[in-house]
Amino acid sequence: MYDVIVAGGGPTGSHVAYHLAEKGHRVLVLERKRRAGESVCCMGIIGLECVNAFTIEDRVILRQVNSASLFSPSGNRLHLWRKEPQACILDRPAFDIAITERAQGAGAEYHFHSRLKDVTVENDRVSVAVSRRGKELKIQSKSVVIATGFTPGLLRRLGLGRFGDFTTGTQVEVKTAGTDEIEVYFGDMAPGFFAWLVPTTPLMARVGLMSRKNPGLYLKKWLAHLAARGKITSAEAELSYGGIPLKPLPRTCSERLIVVGDAAGQVKPTSGGGIYYGLLSADIAARTLHQALEDGDLSAKRLAGYERAWRKRLGRELKTGYWARRLFERLSDRQIDRIFEIVKAGGIDEALLKAKDLSFDWHSKTILRLLKYQMVARTLNLMKLPFRAGGIDR
Ligand SMILES: Cc1cc2nc3c(=O)[nH]c(=O)nc-3n(C[C@H](O)[C@H](O)[C@H](O)COP(=O)(O)OP(=O)(O)OC[C@H]3O[C@@H](n4cnc5c(N)ncnc54)[C@H](O)[C@@H]3O)c2cc1C
Repeated sequence: MYDVIVAGGGPTGSHVAYHLAEKGHRVLVLERKRRAGESVCCMGIIGLECVNAFTIEDRVILRQVNSASLFSPSGNRLHLWRKEPQACILDRPAFDIAITERAQGAGAEYHFHSRLKDVTVENDRVSVAVSRRGKELKIQSKSVVIATGFTPGLLRRLGLGRFGDFTTGTQVEVKTAGTDEIEVYFGDMAPGFFAWLVPTTPLMARVGLMSRKNPGLYLKKWLAHLAARGKITSAEAELSYGGIPLKPLPRTCSERLIVVGDAAGQVKPTSGGGIYYGLLSADIAARTLHQALEDGDLSAKRLAGYERAWRKRLGRELKTGYWARRLFERLSDRQIDRIFEIVKAGGIDEALLKAKDLSFDWHSKTILRLLKYQMVARTLNLMKLPFRAGGIDR
């Protein structure tokens, strides 16, 4: 019998598997894809804090980033620049392969082409129903980690509840006329969210956007627009899609079971970035499970320590980020333009860039800092917010 079955061999599942295998537990990873790194839909941007915390190897990093241009709906540009690199663009398939190989090196067993279908918790074990290359089988384990990414149907079937909110991201690799900087666009190309152009090499980029409705349609229009402007030279590739949870699951553990990563909704609601929060939570999940396995206590009460610990680490960020996300979705293009004008005219962008707490990964302090500028707050107050924002005069 396995000590742990991890369903999902993405970054968070493989990270949990690595830590538990390294501690000597017998770990099986079930991955529905044919191989690691296959068809991943992701911009692949992670902050330097994540790179350092998880010693991400240079060979999976395409480039470092120390600047980005943000464009308002009317084309007003905010140029954010810091001397030191702030983030990295990953070769996402290579990253997934590296993290899988590290877990395998530590002794984790991988079964590809193997889809977790169901989990039955029994007295002293879990029985996991798996579909492998058309065959149905049952595998026994002491515990199970669900790291299947955005899989609302499976999570509901397992009785783990529903995501409070989610959106869809879509992306495509394109050839560019030569772009060297990340570009983020706000406006009707991605209502309520944003569109991006992320250069991976001097002549290639990932172009994508998030949208609650018709993401494919919006992206095709946006690609046509970029092509007409000469920004990209080919836009014919196939689009890929991915669901993005904006609120976590109400409950992320029960007897003998832990949910982690996108499956748990451990994702920044502001940007949709989930790699760092998923890895942080994977650390907590592995620590909790290791101790629980050592003590032979896999009760819901014992595993609840995982839920408490990750919510303590990420809860405030997820709540503030979600609140800011909903607020942003209510802004008109005119209001977004106005905020860009105020930020530029008041030198707020410079002030934010100088602030020590400006972080690629932790947004709540910057959100609250921004709201303290009375001009920004006043623009938002025009929307009759159910609270009063404001504080710093400019
Ligand atoms: C368009 C887009 C852009 C993004 N950009 C960024 C970004 O720039 N930075 C960032 O940090 N995050 C980004 N994200 C989010 C990021 O991709 C995820 O947060 C991250 O992949 C989560 O890792 P995970 O291991 O939890 O889930 P996944 O990476 O989704 O891995 C889950 C794995 O489980 C497997 N699986 C699913 N169901 C089953 C099953 N029943 N049985 C067995 N295996 C199963 C899947 O095949 C997959 O391999 C983006 C997402 C999208 C959609």
